[in-house]
Amino acid sequence: MYHCDFSTMKESILNKNVNFSEWYNDIIRISKIIDDRYPIKGMPVYYPNGYFAIKKILNILENELEKCGFEPYWFPILIPYDIFKRESEHIKGFESEVFYVTPSKPVEEEKEIKYILRPTSETEMYYMFSLWIRSYRDLPLLTYMTNTVYRYETKATKPLVRGREILWNEAHTAHRDLDDAEKTIKKSIEIYSKVFWDHLSVPHIWIKRPDWDKFAGADYTFAADTILPDGKFLQIGTTHLLGRNFSKAFNIIFEDEHPFIKIDKNKFEAFNENNYRYEIEIIEDKIKIRLYDNNNKESIRSYEENIEFDGNISEDNKNLINKMNNIIKNKFNENKLVNKKFVWQTSFGISMRTLSAVISIHGDNKGLILPFEISHIQIIIIPIYYSEDERSKILKYCEDVYNLLKEKYRVKIDKDDTKSPGWKFNQYELMGVPFRISIGKKELEKNTVTISIRQYDSKSKNYEVKLENLLNELDRLIIEYDKEIKERARKYFENKILKIDSLKDLENNLDKNVAFKVPFCMREECAKNIKEKYSLDVRGTDVIPEDAKNKKCIFCNTNVKYYVYVGKSY
Ligand SMILES: [Zn+2]
Repeated sequence: MYHCDFSTMKESILNKNVNFSEWYNDIIRISKIIDDRYPIKGMPVYYPNGYFAIKKILNILENELEKCGFEPYWFPILIPYDIFKRESEHIKGFESEVFYVTPSKPVEEEKEIKYILRPTSETEMYYMFSLWIRSYRDLPLLTYMTNTVYRYETKATKPLVRGREILWNEAHTAHRDLDDAEKTIKKSIEIYSKVFWDHLSVPHIWIKRPDWDKFAGADYTFAADTILPDGKFLQIGTTHLLGRNFSKAFNIIFEDEHPFIKIDKNKFEAFNENNYRYEIEIIEDKIKIRLYDNNNKESIRSYEENIEFDGNISEDNKNLINKMNNIIKNKFNENKLVNKKFVWQTSFGISMRTLSAVISIHGDNKGLILPFEISHIQIIIIPIYYSEDERSKILKYCEDVYNLLKEKYRVKIDKDDTKSPGWKFNQYELMGVPFRISIGKKELEKNTVTISIRQYDSKSKNYEVKLENLLNELDRLIIEYDKEIKERARKYFENKILKIDSLKDLENNLDKNVAFKVPFCMREECAKNIKEKYSLDVRGTDVIPEDAKNKKCIFCNTNVKYYVYVGKSY
């Protein structure tokens, strides 16, 4: 495996725009993000420069979640296999990737039990949700957990992108009804976008994944995709509407105020004591009610009438709830509907992949460029002296500056005598330290410091600042520094997606390091063909899909509904 130390670092950085993949693999090691000499595939060790940034990103997210009422939980790393396998789609999605754990000498009562390392925490959390949730008063339940999950990746692993140990934050929620669950999906998108864009300047789009690519056990999945310099999509966050798939598998039931459950935009259902199901559909001013027995195949009775109605199809509409109740009571002679319901659920997560997007999009040929907020060292102070006499005075002055800054910023003095100031300048540029303060004889005499700001692909900008103005100047310069990163990222992303209507245009741009938005039929078979022929993945539509009704699929020429994102991907 390729590795190098700082003594050879400058020669080893490749041109990011010529060979992005090798640039990434180099930079992530020599800029002290990870060390992957640890002898397990896909399990690198994280240096402070990497781990601090990951921790900080997850902290930012935790704060945003807590502002919205989410609370932190901790669940064990082991899941009993019989709990894990309860939701059948879920297990199909993860079965081949799990690590089993067996004790070397199990005690008698654990002899038959198989454990797995959690690959994601739905199943262990929902086992407990079923014990905790009793009434509508317990809802919504808004939880999150920052942890590690484990997946046995056999494909090529890539630091921060695909590995066997994933550092991340997962949120899990339970709700009274579909509307509340979907509001939380929207909220999760807002929270994640705030983390990605406001804090980290990572441009991204939200995409609804095709059915064949949604999370195992979900009704639907939205994913945040960014595009790396090589034109490949990188998924950096996902949010899933789990519907009632897990609550049915784990028996997460609550007692509600009334029996009606909203199951779609204009549909309710309700159950009686024999588990017969009423389905209520509201179309404009007409209400249709069908009754199904336990076979649930064809309705055994149905009824419809016109109703006066304010258009609000929700469980909060007391008037509508009363009407439905009365019709079922009077027309179906139903005397007992039950108020027990399965909860609606969502789950969503962001991992250390976010850091990989930060590195890939903001970095340059000199190394990392990190947003100020997530840099492990925000300001490095470098003393410059040429004699023993100068040394002690300048180091003393460096300490004064350090003491002035340490309360507000993560700051460090590099006093290493064995390295030249020039070497240090390069090293901290490589590591993505945003600000450097150099202090020599001139600064000492004039009571100033020289601030140098990390610039994209050019020499640092230098400012000589009076010590008494330093704190104020820094505040201003930090805002400017982050603004430049954001502006550059915005411009970068503008050219990363080509919207085109013909296969010829797509073929002509395949080697241009961009992603595409095209009219596509959304057939899985067509998706397989283009994967085989062009190595392109179908990522999905916008959250609110863009209409392409009069167009044809550029690959198979059948009718399409929407524009769809396609491209190479990680
Ligand atoms: Zn097609």
